Amino acid sequence: MDLFEYQARDLFAKHGVPVLAGEVIETPEEARGATERVGGRSVVKAQVKTGGRGKAGGVKLADDPADAVAKAEGILGMDIKGHTVHKVMIAEMAPGIASEYYVSFLLDRANRTFLAMASVEGGVEIEEVAANNPEALAKIAVDANEGVTEAKAREIVEAAKFPAEVADQVVDVLQTLWTVFIKEDALLVEVNPLVKTEDGKILALDGKVSLDENADFRQPDHEALEDKAAANPLEAAAKAKNLNYVKLEGEVGIIGNGAGLVMSTLDVVAYAGEKHSGVKPANFLDIGGGASAEVMANGLEIILGDPDVKSVFVNVFGGITACDEVANGIVQALELLQSRGEDVSKPLVVRLDGNNAELGRKILSDANHPLVQRVDTMDGAADKAAELAAAK
Ligand code: GDP
Ligand code: MN
Repeated sequence: MDLFEYQARDLFAKHGVPVLAGEVIETPEEARGATERVGGRSVVKAQVKTGGRGKAGGVKLADDPADAVAKAEGILGMDIKGHTVHKVMIAEMAPGIASEYYVSFLLDRANRTFLAMASVEGGVEIEEVAANNPEALAKIAVDANEGVTEAKAREIVEAAKFPAEVADQVVDVLQTLWTVFIKEDALLVEVNPLVKTEDGKILALDGKVSLDENADFRQPDHEALEDKAAANPLEAAAKAKNLNYVKLEGEVGIIGNGAGLVMSTLDVVAYAGEKHSGVKPANFLDIGGGASAEVMANGLEIILGDPDVKSVFVNVFGGITACDEVANGIVQALELLQSRGEDVSKPLVVRLDGNNAELGRKILSDANHPLVQRVDTMDGAADKAAELAAAK
C-alpha cells in the first residue's frame, strides 16, 4: 500500500526522521489557519500518489496565509498524471535550501536482499539520475539480519559522496529511516529531496512510503492509513470477506481455486473473448483450496454484484477439496444467495476437473439449475462463458 506524502511525513516524525511541521487539508480556506500554525508562510503541496508534483505545478510557496488559501484553491481539484488532488498538505517552509539529496531503502526482490540507494543529485526524479548519470546513484545491499548499522550508514554516505560537513547527520538519518523501514514493515521508504538547509541542517522535505500489506496482521495502526475513498467498492467488499479479488475491466466473472489456475483462466478467457466481441475477464478471484459453500457463496455474491459482469466462469480443479464438495458448494451457494434475496440471474459456466470430477459433474447435472451449464474442458468452458457474455 502506497502512502500519501503527509502520511509518510507522520511516520517519519514518529520514528525521529527530521521533518518540518505539516497539516493536511481538504478545502482552500483551511490553508489560512494551517499556514498561521506552521509559521505564517508555507509550502502548499498536492497530495497525490505519484511523483513529479513539483514539475506539474502541485507544489507552491505561499508568502502569507491569504496567499496559501489562493495557492490551495489552485491546487485542489488539479489533475496530476491522472490523479485528482483531493487533499493538500500545508507544510512549514524550509529555511533556504543549499542542496537537495536522495536516499531510499527498498526490498530488492531480484537479489533477495534489501537495497539502499543514495545520491547527492536529489530533487529531480531518481529515474532520471539513474538513466543519465548512473554513477551518481550509489546502490548498497543491506543484509536483512544486520540492518543499517552505523558502519553500513557510513558506507552508504561514502559511496554516494555526501560532503563531509553533512556526513554525520546523514548517517543518523539513514539509521532512523531504516527504523521506519523495519518497524513499519515497509517495502520502500524514499526521501527526495533530503535537503541541506543554508544553516547546515539535514531535513526530509518529501517522503514516499510503501507498506507491506502481508504484515497488516501485526500492524494494527496501518488500517487507518488506507485511502478508503479511492478503493474500488467491490475490492473493499471482497477484502472484508477475506477474498483474494482484483477487479478488472471485462465482462466475464471468474472464480477459480488456486492463483495459478485463475491466472491461466484469465488468459484463456481473454483469448476466447477475441472471437466473441472482444469480451474480457471481469476480475481475478481465487477462492483457494478449501472452497466451502460459504466461500463459494461469498465469491459468487461479489461477482454477481459487479454490474459489468454478464456471465460467470467457475473453473475448479479438485485437489484436497474434491470436485463433489465443490459442486455441492456451488449448488448450496446459489440457494444461499437466492434465500438472501440476491439477484441471481447471470449464467454460470462450470468446469470441474481433477479429484472426484465424475461425481462433481453428476451433482451439478442432477441439481439441474437453470443458470448453470457444465462444460468439461477449460477451453470449451471459456469459449461458452465468453459467448454468453457477448450475447448479453
Ligand atoms: P515531488 O515533485 O512530487 O517530488 O514533490 P517534492 O515534495 O519533492 O517537491 C518538489 C520540490 O519543491 C523540491 O525538490 C524542492 O525543491 C521544493 N520544495 C519542497 N518543499 C519546499 C520547501 O519547504 N521550501 C522550498 N523552498 N522548496 C521546497
Ligand atoms: Mn520529491
